[in-house]
Amino acid sequence: MNEHEFISCEEYARETKDYLKKLISTWLDKPTLAIIQVGDNPASNSYIKGKLKDCEEVGIKHEHIHFDKTTTQELIKCIEALNNRRDIDGIIVQLPLPDYLNPDDITPHIAKEKDVDGFRVDSYFNPCTPKGIIDWLEYNDYDLIGKDVTVIGRSKIVGKPLVNMLIDKGATVTCCNSKTRNLYKHTKFADVIVSAVGIPNFLRAGDFIAAEVVIDVGINRDKNGKLCGDINREEVLKCGDDIYVTPVPKGVGLLTRVSLLENVYNAFIYQKEV
Ligand code: NAP
Repeated sequence: MNEHEFISCEEYARETKDYLKKLISTWLDKPTLAIIQVGDNPASNSYIKGKLKDCEEVGIKHEHIHFDKTTTQELIKCIEALNNRRDIDGIIVQLPLPDYLNPDDITPHIAKEKDVDGFRVDSYFNPCTPKGIIDWLEYNDYDLIGKDVTVIGRSKIVGKPLVNMLIDKGATVTCCNSKTRNLYKHTKFADVIVSAVGIPNFLRAGDFIAAEVVIDVGINRDKNGKLCGDINREEVLKCGDDIYVTPVPKGVGLLTRVSLLENVYNAFIYQKEV
């Protein structure tokens, strides 16, 4: 029986933004985020639109640097120039990049104290999606100590860093991937299930037998082109209406967006102190 009451991701994001806005309003100069974009990928356009809107809401200034086409060398030069500017606090390279550019050749050039996406292994910041998930659970006073958590997905930006952060919080963590032989063995006893796979309707009712909270990271399109996550809520409900499932949209995506704002603010504070 899950007795925990969860505050929605939407409410958490709104409250965190209000708090940040107040903090930022106390400074005469403002935190500044530089966003580098290459090409015209529709997903990138929509992510950037959201990020610019979020920045404006809380009072973070932004610079959007757009290349129609470029080279790895030119991007590195651009990043180095931004690294050297005192008036730029955070830098991100919007993914996905066009196929002819490899993000692994580019993002490590962002200075670790400005790497607000947290992609470098030695970044001063945690990657936004795992950070958002952990912060949201903590905001909910959900104690991870001793909990069995199953994370499905081991990507560099979601699954892997999340596993490390959960271990640090005292959870017992299992990480599954596409080669996992019997997924059900790892989901059926989990108190917390995080699905970061990218396949709609990925899990079935039996997977949620012990779950208190199911965190749906997936962003997919269903067969009608509608935005959906990995989790089919109807399947979860078959196991009980007291299991909290983060929605898609208005779930982990909002946690990720608010984490970026927090990282930019913290990068700004860091720049003040050096
Ligand atoms: P990714 O790099 O494609 O990783 C997907 C992971 O799922 C891989 O580790 C893969 O295993 C695993 N996987 C695939 N099929 C599986 C199966 N049948 N059983 C178990 N594991 C399986 O993706 P990502 O960047 O982590 O993103 C995952 C999803 O989250 C996508 O839908 C993405 O759009 C979404 N996303 C959302 C946010 C947000 O803010 N809400 C942020 C980032 C990503 P292998 O490693 O063995 O291939």
